Amino acid sequence: MKAGILGGGQLGRMLLQAAANYTVETYVMEKDAKCPSAHLCHHFVLGDIEDFNSVYNFGKGLDAITIEIEAVNVDALAKLESEGVKVFPATTAIRTIKNKILQKEFYQQQEIRSPDFTITESAEQLRKCAAFLPAAHKIALGGYDGRGVQLLRTEVDLDKGFDAPSVLEKMVDIKKEIAVMVALGETGETAIYPAAEMIFDPALNLLDFQISPADIPEQVLSKVEELALRVVKALKSPGIFAVEMFVDNYDEVWVNETAPRVHNSGHHTIEANYCSQFDMLWRIILGLPLGNTKPVMSSAIVNVLGAEGHSGDAVYKGLEDVLQLKNTFVHLYGKQQTKPSRKMGHVTILSNDRQELIQQAMKIKGMLKVVSL
Ligand code: ADP
Repeated sequence: MKAGILGGGQLGRMLLQAAANYTVETYVMEKDAKCPSAHLCHHFVLGDIEDFNSVYNFGKGLDAITIEIEAVNVDALAKLESEGVKVFPATTAIRTIKNKILQKEFYQQQEIRSPDFTITESAEQLRKCAAFLPAAHKIALGGYDGRGVQLLRTEVDLDKGFDAPSVLEKMVDIKKEIAVMVALGETGETAIYPAAEMIFDPALNLLDFQISPADIPEQVLSKVEELALRVVKALKSPGIFAVEMFVDNYDEVWVNETAPRVHNSGHHTIEANYCSQFDMLWRIILGLPLGNTKPVMSSAIVNVLGAEGHSGDAVYKGLEDVLQLKNTFVHLYGKQQTKPSRKMGHVTILSNDRQELIQQAMKIKGMLKVVSL
């Protein structure tokens, strides 16, 4: 089997690491020859994943293609699909999810609970939407890692919005942010991973780490799982999906957004679950039985981000200390250059004691710093 990955970032890298267990010849396309995946695949192709001809030529001789980011040329994928290349997830699913407006309309059509929204085409139109506030303004195309979202609370915030087609979505009073990975096999079978929760505590300056399984009551968990499965079944495509949801103060559950691919919120599955999200996607692509999603242990993920004020060749201060911690697994993405807040790696911690997970996560955040020479 010849399988291609569009995008050569850290997700592609971990997908390639998992591919080593299977008989698969891997191809990666990315416009940076020094990307995290370049030296781990069998064939690296330098090219722009948003360009029709580049994607079409890359995919033409392959049996299957998957993505590690949604910003790909969907028309080229559709042509490849029509010519018999298997695309995971199906092009229709990528097309729907890639554009936030189409994604929200899809939830609406499918009667999947997601915050109310209106569409704004320009900054001028947004300025007329004061009555819709407080709201989250989300650019339709090209917004990743929080850069495509502005929280607008009052009328003065309207100037912070995007001057491009966007979704203006009612603000939810969020109690918890949850993500659930769901796998859908080619014959329609599903497997769902335990929910993960984002931990966000500004008082402790403890941003940006995640614990799985999430600490939520049984009846909320069943709503979360039901909603995640509904989203994925409605997309009608084999693949692996991350469904991000909000639990509000009334324990209602809302879909925030879906990623049609392996996802940051599933990194812990490498060590913490019997079958990792990466292994799961290869099983789907290769038409093998789905894997076991059960947790081996509870876990936390800490992101390793470039330190403020440092740009240049990366140096990992405190790495040796972290490597000595028990049940702790360091993943560095092989990026040579650091810059403030750049995602350079992650650390997974295993423990069935939630307090210990939180303490270790905080400790590691303090211990490991990515600086420049
Ligand atoms: P991205 O894909 O860039 O991470 P998200 O749509 O997940 O963008 O939004 C980023 C963050 O903004 C969310 O994690 C959440 O904290 C906040 N947010 C997004 N939509 C809403 C909403 N409707 N109500 C309240 N907060 C929101």
